[in-house]
Amino acid sequence: MNIKVQNLDKVYKNGKRALSDINLQIENGMFGLLGPNGAGKSSLMRILVTLMKPTLGVVNVNGFDLLKDRAQIRKMLGYLPQDFRFFTKLKTWEFLNYAAGLSGISSKKERSEKVDEWLDKVGLFDVRERNANKLSGGMKRRLGIAQALIGDPQIIVVDEPTTGLDPEERIRFRNILSELSQKDVIIILSTHIVGDISSICKDLALLNKGRVGFKGSPEELINKTKGHVWQVTTSGFEYEMLKEKYAIISTIPSEEGWEVQLVGDTLNVKNAIEIEPNLEHAYVYFMEYLTDQNSF
Ligand code: ADP
Repeated sequence: MNIKVQNLDKVYKNGKRALSDINLQIENGMFGLLGPNGAGKSSLMRILVTLMKPTLGVVNVNGFDLLKDRAQIRKMLGYLPQDFRFFTKLKTWEFLNYAAGLSGISSKKERSEKVDEWLDKVGLFDVRERNANKLSGGMKRRLGIAQALIGDPQIIVVDEPTTGLDPEERIRFRNILSELSQKDVIIILSTHIVGDISSICKDLALLNKGRVGFKGSPEELINKTKGHVWQVTTSGFEYEMLKEKYAIISTIPSEEGWEVQLVGDTLNVKNAIEIEPNLEHAYVYFMEYLTDQNSF
């Protein structure tokens, strides 16, 4: 599978520009789209799942043109939107059965097997007789995941998937996706939570103000941040100065004051120790220091 996005722009009717000249090449496996609220992630996702047309640009999915071959592309898609809601009185299993039908599973027996398999995978088997709209927030989210995946889609698009999930559920969800990513599928996961991306995404793009700020592997992003992360032990006045000039990642009280981790372009502070960046440092560095200058 592959998706090629070329020169994509989206300007809404009210004149708001949400995407500017997006170019991406997405291959099999898990692809992370990371950026703050308002960056344009949902706009890009909605275009990719054929719910919205771009203002300009071309998207090619395995040789199909997104604008011309919508029916073919829809058959390959599984989509979990950010605000997934039920307007239904169906029981949990009935809802999933309905979703399986929509995804093209016409045999009743196969549908029933798939429904049981997915109820089990997302931990909803015990509540299968409960009305779907009576499930808890986390359970509804899991049902949303199951309905997106039950038809074995080749392209899976999940928008802010871990919103409303507790830590245990996050791990379960991550495991389901990471199992799927071994197959011939593309999983596009959009999030503003760095931790959703780190362990499972092979490639990622950073989106800010409608532009791609970085594309590549998490390791490449981290490498670009080397030499820009420090730890300083400081107190009172100096701490205030640091807060003005740098992006503070963490502040831990210590005997001499504060142990501060910070990110910046260059640092002129005594006794600062350079430390190894992680993905969170890298994300902050790119967002704070590189986006506005367009220097990447
Ligand atoms: P994200 O998913 O990263 O939070 P969005 O794609 O939802 O970002 O939004 C990108 C920008 O486009 C924001 O400034 C948002 O306010 C604007 N936007 C989103 N949807 C619409 C719309 N239907 N009409 C006008 N502006 C919109």
